[in-house]
Amino acid sequence: MKGIYKLAVVGVGKIARDQHLPAIAAQPGFELVACASRNASVDRVRNYRDIDALLAAEPSIDAVSLCAPPQVRYAQALAALEAGKHVMLEKPPGASVSEVAALQEIAQAHGCTLFASWHSRAASAVEPAREWLAKDAGAIRSVEVRWKEDVRRWHPGQQWIWEPGGLGVFDPGINALSIVTRVLPHEIALRGATLTTPSDTSTPIAAELDCVATNGAPVRAVFDWRHGPVEEWDIDIDTDAGRLSMREGGKRLSIAGKEIDLGREREYPALYEQFHALIETKASDVDVRPLRLVADAFLNGRRVETEAFGR
Ligand code: NAP
Repeated sequence: MKGIYKLAVVGVGKIARDQHLPAIAAQPGFELVACASRNASVDRVRNYRDIDALLAAEPSIDAVSLCAPPQVRYAQALAALEAGKHVMLEKPPGASVSEVAALQEIAQAHGCTLFASWHSRAASAVEPAREWLAKDAGAIRSVEVRWKEDVRRWHPGQQWIWEPGGLGVFDPGINALSIVTRVLPHEIALRGATLTTPSDTSTPIAAELDCVATNGAPVRAVFDWRHGPVEEWDIDIDTDAGRLSMREGGKRLSIAGKEIDLGREREYPALYEQFHALIETKASDVDVRPLRLVADAFLNGRRVETEAFGR
């Protein structure tokens, strides 16, 4: 029989309220019993100010889902794993690649599940796209990513995105990279990048990435936060068998000019199903490749200063 796990959510902000809480309520394998957030609380569960207070008061919790910004992910995950809890990480799984590797070792030492979630990989176009590219597409010739939106619309008032570890425009851009690294049958290597960075922020407002797949196909990505009013979250993959296009962040798929019928959108319910299955099978799922590409862009990118954002 499948277990029902007592769960706590840490960092009750935009994504916790928009997606995590409704998805958990609809998932019979988890019972939300508590939350930890400095300024917010959730009805009908016990609330604490931070994860240390939560862990001290709730020894029977089985798992935690970490929904605060990436800069505090490591400390929160460390505390939870050391207390023997299974941990689900919002994307990105850390503010650095090395801290995610450290968490993997700690999770293993404590016999806990660590799930680095990538919600865009659960978009309905992704698995059909992956299957077609693996079986029917022939050679991949090129990949073009355009991920553009208005930062003032999608991140109103958020300061952490502009601080070190906050990723800037890579906060949405990493979603595209999570899809590309999932669907392509090849690894990709970053060759160069341009990071357009306002004079008053630590992180970029726009970026261009120049990568190459192991079969030699160019993979280019353009991320821009100065775009609107209609966002563009598109990926085009040209192959021997025609073009595969994912639109609207993976909600729509066309292959060789034909629109494909997809199941209904259920990104976060699918993530909690996956977390549950990982706990049941005593497994972890930590794929750092999207974060590694972002880290490589910071490592290898040319920084171009642009006008102040006016935070
Ligand atoms: P958010 O609303 O700005 O932050 C979430 C909550 O985290 C805040 O309300 C805050 O709650 C807590 N928090 C903030 N700074 C903290 C700190 N220094 N220490 C401890 N807690 C802190 O951000 P969000 O948009 O929900 O994003 C959170 C994570 O989810 C990010 O990694 C983001 O990439 C990811 N995500 C966001 C979206 C989206 O559409 N927004 C979509 C997918 C994934 P308290 O003040 O109550 O502590």
